Amino acid sequence: MRSSSVPAVDATGPAADSASLAELDRRLLWHPFTQQRGWQQEPAILIERARGTTLFDTEGRAYIDGVSSLWCNVHGHGHPVIDAAVRDQLGRVAHSTMLGLSHPPAVRLAKRLLEVAPAGLSRVFYSDNGSTAVEIALKMAFQFWAQRRGRSGSERERTGFIHLRNAYHGDTVGSVSVGGIDLFHQLYRPLLFDSWQAEPGDVADMERLLACHADAVAAVVVEPLVQGAAGILVHPPGYLRAVRELCDRHDVLLICDEVATGFGRTGTMFACQQEDVAPDLMCVAKGLTGGYLPLAATLTTERIYEGFLGEHEEFRTFFHGHTYTGNPLACAAALATLELFDSERTLERVRETSALFGALLAERIEPLDTVREVRRLGMMCGIELVAFELAQRMSHQVTLAARRRGAIIRPLGDVLVLMPPLSITAAELDRLVSVTAEAISEATAPSALPRAA
Ligand code: PLP
Repeated sequence: MRSSSVPAVDATGPAADSASLAELDRRLLWHPFTQQRGWQQEPAILIERARGTTLFDTEGRAYIDGVSSLWCNVHGHGHPVIDAAVRDQLGRVAHSTMLGLSHPPAVRLAKRLLEVAPAGLSRVFYSDNGSTAVEIALKMAFQFWAQRRGRSGSERERTGFIHLRNAYHGDTVGSVSVGGIDLFHQLYRPLLFDSWQAEPGDVADMERLLACHADAVAAVVVEPLVQGAAGILVHPPGYLRAVRELCDRHDVLLICDEVATGFGRTGTMFACQQEDVAPDLMCVAKGLTGGYLPLAATLTTERIYEGFLGEHEEFRTFFHGHTYTGNPLACAAALATLELFDSERTLERVRETSALFGALLAERIEPLDTVREVRRLGMMCGIELVAFELAQRMSHQVTLAARRRGAIIRPLGDVLVLMPPLSITAAELDRLVSVTAEAISEATAPSALPRAA
C-alpha cells in the first residue's frame, strides 16, 4: 500500500518525463545547503548524462560543468580509462569491507598515493567523504596525544585545536567544531568542542595562540594556500611554511585539509607541496576518484601510526571505521585517476590552462563595475561581487543567468565560484568565462534590479 503522502506520479517507468520527475523532486527531496522554499519556486534541472566538461539535462540541454560537480571532477566526465577501471572492478567485487579484510585496489592505491604525497607521509586510512577524512585526522591527533600522555603521565591533556577564521572542513560535528564560517557553524556552537580561531594569513596571530596554548593543543588544522568555501581566499605566500615551522617549534601536529585543493586544483598535486610542507596528517577526498565515487583518505606519518601500536589489552586501537571505507570500485577509480595524471600530463597542462584562465578573467571579469575582486590560484577562482541587498540574492541571480546561457556555476555568499575540471579545453574555458561575464552584466544591470520605493 502506498503512503498517502507519496504522490501518484510514476517517475520510474520509461514514460517518466522531466516535468513529472521535477515535480516529484519538489515533493520528496530535501537538497543540501538549499532553502527549500526557494527551490520549490524555481525550475529544477535534472542531469541525465555527462561527457568531458559537459552536463546534459533530461531535456537534452547542455551545460559546461563550471564547478566540477562540486569541486571533484578532474579529468572530465565519462573518461574511458576511469570507466573501464570501474567496470573491470565491478566484474570482480563491488564492495568488501576493510575491517578485518583487505583488497588489491586498496593496497595498490595506498602505494600510489604515498608516492605522490609529500615525503614523510607513510600510512593511509580510508573513509568515504571529506568531512570524515577531517574527523578522522582530529580524532587521530587527539588520541595520539592522549596515549602518549598515558605512557609518560607527564604532559597536560591536549584536547584543543587551532583553526582559521572562515575555515571550512565539512559538516560533521567534529569538522564543524574546527569550522570558522559563522553562517554555517555558529548555530551549532553548543554541540561543539573547543577550538581557538587564528586570523588567516597572519603568522603573528598563530604565533601568539601557540605561545599561549601549545601544551593544550592537539593540532593546528588548515586548508593549505586556499580557503575554498570562504570564497576562494588565497593566503599570502610563505604563510603555510611559517605555520609548519611554528607547529614544529611548539611540538603541535599540523593537519592539512587538501579535500578541495588536492589533485592538481591549485596547479600542483597537493597545495602544501608549493611551500615544501609535509603535514603530520593530510586529508584527501573529492578529486581522489576523479569525481566518480565517494572515497576519502587520511594520510599520516610513522610517528603518529606508531603511537597507536600496543598489545591487544592496552586498547590503543583506533576505534573508527565506516561500512564503505576504501570501497573497491572507488579505489579502482582513484587508481585510474592517478594514472591519468601521468599519461595525460595533467599537471603540465594545468599550468597552461591556469595561465589562460587568469588572462580571460583579467580581460572579461575584472573590468566589470559590479565585480569587487577576482581571486584565483590554479583552477580555483572566486569572483566577489560588490555588495547588493541580501534579499536580491545577486550571486544566485547570476548563476541562473549563467544557466540560461549553458553554464553551471555556484554562489558562495557574494562570491561566484568557477572551478572547472582540470581537463577543460581552451575553447570551453573561454566560453565559461564569457558566459559568466554576460550573466553578471545581465543580472546586475540597473534594468534587472528592483526599483527603489
Ligand atoms: N574540507 C574542505 C576544505 C572542503 O572544501 C570540503 C567540502 O567542500 C570538505 C572538507 C568536506 O568534504 P565532503 O563534502 O566530501 O564531506
